Amino acid sequence: MNHDDLRDWSKQAADWIHDYHEGLRERPVRSQTRPGDTRAQLAGQAPEQPESMEVIFEDFARIVPDAMTHWQHPRFFAYFPGNASPASMLAEQLANAMAAQAMLWQTSPAATEMEEVMVSWLRDALGLDPHFTGTLHDSATTATLSAILTMREKALNWLGNSQGLQGQPTLRLYASEHVHSSIDKDVRIAGIGQESLVKIPTDAGHAMDMKALDAAIRADREAGHLPAGIILCVGGTGIGACDRIADGVAVARVHGLPTHVDAAWAGSAMICPEYRHLWEGIDGADSIVFNPHKWLGVQFDCSVQFLADPAPQVRTLGLRPEYLKTLGKSSSMTDFNEWTVPLGRRFRALKIWFTLRAYGLEGLRQRIRNHVAWAEELAETLATLPGVQIVTHPQLSLFSFALDSGDAATEALLKRINDDGRVYLTQTRHDGRLVIRVQVGQFDCTREDVMCVHEVVKELL
Ligand code: PLP
Repeated sequence: MNHDDLRDWSKQAADWIHDYHEGLRERPVRSQTRPGDTRAQLAGQAPEQPESMEVIFEDFARIVPDAMTHWQHPRFFAYFPGNASPASMLAEQLANAMAAQAMLWQTSPAATEMEEVMVSWLRDALGLDPHFTGTLHDSATTATLSAILTMREKALNWLGNSQGLQGQPTLRLYASEHVHSSIDKDVRIAGIGQESLVKIPTDAGHAMDMKALDAAIRADREAGHLPAGIILCVGGTGIGACDRIADGVAVARVHGLPTHVDAAWAGSAMICPEYRHLWEGIDGADSIVFNPHKWLGVQFDCSVQFLADPAPQVRTLGLRPEYLKTLGKSSSMTDFNEWTVPLGRRFRALKIWFTLRAYGLEGLRQRIRNHVAWAEELAETLATLPGVQIVTHPQLSLFSFALDSGDAATEALLKRINDDGRVYLTQTRHDGRLVIRVQVGQFDCTREDVMCVHEVVKELL
């Protein structure tokens, strides 16, 4: 296949993409395939000789779509959304065509400068203070890892990177039970050890108990441990729990600790001023992550990390071997690989630029406001069904419900719902109870799509 063929096949692919998206509502949302079905249809070995694109494309259309769970389906209400707006998909195709490594300013000047400008567009759109700067990562997991590594190095007076962690005091990080498992994973990767992530209890509103946080830090200091930082959450994955950021920052300041805020999902909603009370005090944070690839419509992967001061992170992650030096470099040339874990970086800013311009902040706000309103309406309607209980009320557009008759019945209902295929929901455990999560956030969903959950649950109860 050459570039002339690519032009022809791109046109065919564009037609296929259009028809796929138009036909999504006819497909079951969650794949109904059985384990092993796809493997059985793939050749055991790579071909020695080239195959024609006709055959490859035909195989793709025959094997792949039916064996996929359709994340862009308007009735995908599971996990959190992984939205890809049409404008962001177009931008991604263009970025793919250039296939640049945006590791240094000189390897991708437009990507680097657009990344700087997109971070500032998003900062302003979210109502954050202008002192924040930042960078793009693939995922919130990596952004948080960068923040945790920086916390580790600051606490160890920059000796962890050079000398390793052996012989150093035991570090401590603090977070509530509602933070995403990516925090646990990052603590492992950072070599701090999962047991050093102290899970602070929460109050009746599912926010971190600040007195308990303060007491834990003091107790750790007395025990000879080394507190390194606090991770707060806005919109936790299970039920959308929010810590009180202003209070968390205040405790951090008393103890001279940095804070990182995980707003991977809920951050997008902050383009609407009326939701910003959920992260009141956010301007005091050192690091904030949110994923435009979740609720804002920017195709996966795209995670933004805002930083009050990038210098500690660059000191932690930046390496400058001779072969990466830019001869004649000036201070206005940012090398973003020094801010992030991988050296090679994709041109992610382009899809933010396309998305924000194609829909406008007002268009994106309207979507999010609709999602919140429809989630509230759905929760109210579900609550009228016999035996159905709303367990956690909508936090933005996320709520959970369960059957009065217990976990086994709730699980069986969830299985029936997802086997049916008209909508897709997933579960979590809340206060020891199995609950079904509903999040509304699909870029193209309508009120009817959302209310379909009510129809399906009523039918399958
Ligand atoms: N934080 C929260 C609150 C999340 O909900 C998720 C994923 O859903 C993550 C972090 C991890 O995100 P990513 O897949 O970008 O690493």
